[in-house]
Amino acid sequence: MRTESLDFLKSLCNTPSPSGYEERIAKVYADYTKTFADKVETDRHGNTTAILNPDAEQKIMLAGHMDEIGFQVSYIEDEGFLRFRGIGGHDMSIPLGQRVFIHTDNGPIPGIIGRKPIHLLESTERDKTTPLHDMFIDIGAKKRDEIENEIMIGDPITYQWEFEMLRNNRATARGFDNRVGSFAVAEALRLLKESGSLDSGVGVYAVATVQEEIGLRGARTAAHRIGAQSGLAVDVDFAIDHPGVSKSRYGKCDLGGGPSVTRGANINPVVFRTIMQASKEDEIPVQVSAEPGGTGTDANAMQVAGDAMATGLVGIPLRYMHTPVELLSLDDVENCAKLMAGYCKRVKPETTFIPGT
Ligand SMILES: [Zn+2]
Repeated sequence: MRTESLDFLKSLCNTPSPSGYEERIAKVYADYTKTFADKVETDRHGNTTAILNPDAEQKIMLAGHMDEIGFQVSYIEDEGFLRFRGIGGHDMSIPLGQRVFIHTDNGPIPGIIGRKPIHLLESTERDKTTPLHDMFIDIGAKKRDEIENEIMIGDPITYQWEFEMLRNNRATARGFDNRVGSFAVAEALRLLKESGSLDSGVGVYAVATVQEEIGLRGARTAAHRIGAQSGLAVDVDFAIDHPGVSKSRYGKCDLGGGPSVTRGANINPVVFRTIMQASKEDEIPVQVSAEPGGTGTDANAMQVAGDAMATGLVGIPLRYMHTPVELLSLDDVENCAKLMAGYCKRVKPETTFIPGT
């Protein structure tokens, strides 16, 4: 991966962006895409869109959500402990014992998530996961008065984990889900710009959407506002290649095997065929995955917003989803951006996306 791109990916992953708190990461996205897009804009919801050919009538929306799961401060105890609530779907075996940052207006404050030690647990408590309301954050404060001018109710919280390279061009980060998707749509736009391969009658809207983790909310408003005829959502997908998961049950999806391409009711057949054509002709490996109903991704919101956008869904294989140590292959990330660019350059001003054509 070229250095500027890798720096951009690191920067996205290391910027806190729990759902509803995407202002900072939106700026990272806008600053990068500004260097090659014709136009970059942020809407009232916070979705940030980089555009090529903004005057074209045929429009393609590329969506990668830039929010991550996280927490927020809900109450400060007299003794200075913070109570907190989850933002998005957490694996409850993870929070305990983690280091966190509370992101205040004046910068991050470090803390840890605690509860009573194992020796003091009742026998009935030992085999159960601890609910969030029995945990608290300790920042070393002695009493509420000491911190209530620094920490505000509602301040977002993230784990301290950040981007790190591993072996074989694989990397780990907190919240690759789905800052890596925002990265992929930005890179697809850059590839289109640099190759000059996009039809001048086709506009591409690369959107870093907000609030996916709490109900696909940003993609819905962005899809309505842009009114594109077709669109691709990109999200992380479950890699089925480590102990404890079964290909027979969930299908094949290997890290490094290429982006997944979903097929089923959420996917317009013309869009699916165009993605597969791009894969074949541009020699990009893909892994087809079956999803009989609406998917739990932005593609679902996009398809049913307004008058039925023709949607496709591509996925970046990822291990350990919704933990602070999500792991993926940068080869898949680059191939995913190429695949989306390959789709866009095959769309023509006259393409209708009507099934059967
Ligand atoms: Zn997620």
